[in-house]
Amino acid sequence: MREPTVAVVGAGAAGIIAAWRAASLGAKVVLLEKTPRIGTKIMISGGGKCNLTHDGSLEDILRAFRKNEAQFLRPSFYRFPPASFLKIVFSRGLEVYTRPDGRIFPVHQTAKDVVRILTDVIEEAGVEVRLDCRVMGLLIEAGRVIGVETEFGPLKADKVIVAAGGSSYPNSGTTGDAWAWLRTLGHKVTPLRAALAPIYLHDKAYSGLALRDVFLRGRSAGKEIARWRGDLLFTHQGISGPCALGVSREVAEAMEKGPVAFVVDGWPDETFESLREELIAEAKSSPHRLVRTHLEAKAPERYAERILDQAEIGTGTKLGTLGKKQRNQVVEFMKGLPLGEARAVPLEKGEVVAGGVELSEVDPKTMESRVVSSLFLCGEVLDIAGPVGGYNLQAAWSTGFVAGDTAATKSVK
Ligand SMILES: Cc1cc2nc3c(=O)[nH]c(=O)nc-3n(C[C@H](O)[C@H](O)[C@H](O)COP(=O)(O)OP(=O)(O)OC[C@H]3O[C@@H](n4cnc5c(N)ncnc54)[C@H](O)[C@@H]3O)c2cc1C
Repeated sequence: MREPTVAVVGAGAAGIIAAWRAASLGAKVVLLEKTPRIGTKIMISGGGKCNLTHDGSLEDILRAFRKNEAQFLRPSFYRFPPASFLKIVFSRGLEVYTRPDGRIFPVHQTAKDVVRILTDVIEEAGVEVRLDCRVMGLLIEAGRVIGVETEFGPLKADKVIVAAGGSSYPNSGTTGDAWAWLRTLGHKVTPLRAALAPIYLHDKAYSGLALRDVFLRGRSAGKEIARWRGDLLFTHQGISGPCALGVSREVAEAMEKGPVAFVVDGWPDETFESLREELIAEAKSSPHRLVRTHLEAKAPERYAERILDQAEIGTGTKLGTLGKKQRNQVVEFMKGLPLGEARAVPLEKGEVVAGGVELSEVDPKTMESRVVSSLFLCGEVLDIAGPVGGYNLQAAWSTGFVAGDTAATKSVK
């Protein structure tokens, strides 16, 4: 039996690992990338520091994903867990450190080291890399894929692995090309929405403000649809930072049905009662102290101002003159300051895209399409979107490994 020829579309995290694995098993592999370099998104990951993967038990890591995604990812995560990926980079001298929250980064905090290692790894495995080579579609014969159509002409292959990514950060090369081809072949692509994205608000009053460790809550049709605790940054368009990214997927989904409004709890560890008691005690000990001064000692000035504004309390009001109703109002807005409604969650600005090839149409043990034979799908092209924390790269490494492994070992008809 001859070794199979494998064409891999897209030299991102999933495609690189798929190509490396298939070539290591003896397949003749061509890795096709439309941009002039490999690993562009790895380079910009984690703000250029590259949060490679996540520490902890595999089941804990899987729990970070939605239930159906975790179920799909389980076989590939067990086949190629974080430790297996780390073994590759460790063997090439990369040192990593684990943050208290489990996120794993290179010690020297540069994604360049990771891409350099992956470049060496695929070269040594004998992968042929063709850069600046855009794939335009798949070649199909009798229900199976027989190669790809590139901008320079057809390229025959026994197996094709599509690892063309999502459609956020289009400047990095990911413009959702593969979904169009896959749809024509009968694959279902679930609705595409932003995830891990900033959220644009109608109200831009807070621009420039940064809040540490707050609770952001999104509400729609009278129900809480998302919540996240962490830092919150206000940009000229709306909100960003961990809280905004953390709720963005749910917000984008809910906005299709109706408006989503936000409130921020600036004191998540305090209760309404504890904050009220504190105000009462403070009013007793320092009746001439301004309410504003009291708040500014606990929060940024503009945030404190906004709380007073919402509670309709003048900036010259003293603690001692604060009535019961006014006091309750101050506390109410400390625990839930309205930020107004979301205007948009821009898909192109998300770190990942939620939505993609329907998971039930891909075998999670092999990554082979259940619609077209000899076609393998891996990485963000699939309907998978994990939270911030190295989860998305791990999903790409693991699904890429399994796709490359099966493409190289499944017999050629
Ligand atoms: C700003 C940012 C920061 C992030 N930080 C992290 C992080 O720290 N940790 C983490 O786990 N995840 C992070 N992510 C998410 C993570 O980078 C992606 O989920 C992951 O890279 C997806 O890998 P992939 O191989 O599926 O797709 P990609 O890495 O996007 O690779 C797809 C490749 O296919 C190529 N391609 C597309 N169409 C064609 C075509 N027609 N022909 C040829 N080539 C084509 C593209 O040019 C691209 O190189 C971040 C994402 C962004 C945008």
